Amino acid sequence: MRKPDIFDEIIQCMKTCEQTGADASMSTEILQDLYSRPVRKAAPVQNASVPAPAPASVPSPAASSVRITQPRPAQPQPPAQTQAHIPLRDGVPPAYAPDMPEWESLRAECAACMNCGLGRTRTNMVFADGNPHAELMFIGEGPGADEDATGVPFVGRAGELLSRMIAAMTFDRRTETCIANIVKCRPPGNRNPADDEAAACIPYLKRQIAMVNPKVIVLLGAVPLLYLFNLKGIMKLRGRWLDYEGIPVMPTYHPAFLLRNPPAKKDAWADLQAVMAVFGRKPAPRR
Ligand code: URA
Repeated sequence: MRKPDIFDEIIQCMKTCEQTGADASMSTEILQDLYSRPVRKAAPVQNASVPAPAPASVPSPAASSVRITQPRPAQPQPPAQTQAHIPLRDGVPPAYAPDMPEWESLRAECAACMNCGLGRTRTNMVFADGNPHAELMFIGEGPGADEDATGVPFVGRAGELLSRMIAAMTFDRRTETCIANIVKCRPPGNRNPADDEAAACIPYLKRQIAMVNPKVIVLLGAVPLLYLFNLKGIMKLRGRWLDYEGIPVMPTYHPAFLLRNPPAKKDAWADLQAVMAVFGRKPAPRR
C-alpha cells in the first residue's frame, strides 16, 4: 500500500472542502475522476533555438488569471476508421483533436516515422495525452513500457503520480492539460533517449508546442531541460522560470524521480504552485 504523500494530502483537503461546502478550487468532475479510477490560442513557435534562462524566481511576465470554472464540452468521438489505428483509452484516442487537422496529420506523420532506431522497436508511437487546446503543457522524457503498450504518455506509476500532481494543481488532466515527451517511441530498457533519437524527434515536439501554444509549459526532469534548452542541472534549475519562444517554462522534478525521492515532492509542489499562480489558481488550505 502506497503511503499518502503531499499530493494526496492536498487532494484530500480539497475533497473535504468540497464535502463541507468550504471554498475549494477543485471541481466535482476532477474528484470523481480521481477517486473512481486511476487517471486519468496562438503565435507559432518557430525554431529549435535555445532561449536564455530568465533570472531565478522571475515569474511569468504574461501571468493573468485564467481560472476555468465551466466544464469543457466532452471530447467528440472519433470516426471509426481513425479508431482502427490509433490506440484508444476509454474509447477515445489520447489528445484527439478533430477540430485541429494539423494535429491529426502530425500524429499520422509521427506514427509513420522511422527517423531513428526507436521506430523499429516501438509497439506504439506515443503522441500526446490530454487536450491540444490546453493552456498547460507538460513535457516528459519518453515512453516507458506501459506507454509503449498503450500509446498514451504517463500511464505507469510515474504517470499516476503526475495525475495526482495535476489534480492537486486543480487541473483536469484530460481536458485542461496536454502531455507530451521529448521522444515519441520507447527507448529500450527505459534508458534515456540518445542524442540522435532526441534530435530526430524534437522537431515533432516543437510543432506540437506551436499548435498547442500553451500559456505555461512544465518540464519534467533533466531530459526535457537538456533537449529543449541545452541546459544541465535540474537540481539547480528547478523552480526557476525559463522562456521558450515567449512561453514561460517551469522545470521541475520528473515524477519517477519523486517516486524514488519522496522528500523532493515538497520542492516539486512549490514549483507547481508557482505555475498555479500564473493561472490564478490556489490549492485548498491544508488542514
Ligand atoms: N516518463 C516519461 O517521461 N514519459 C512518459 O510518457 C512516461 C514516463
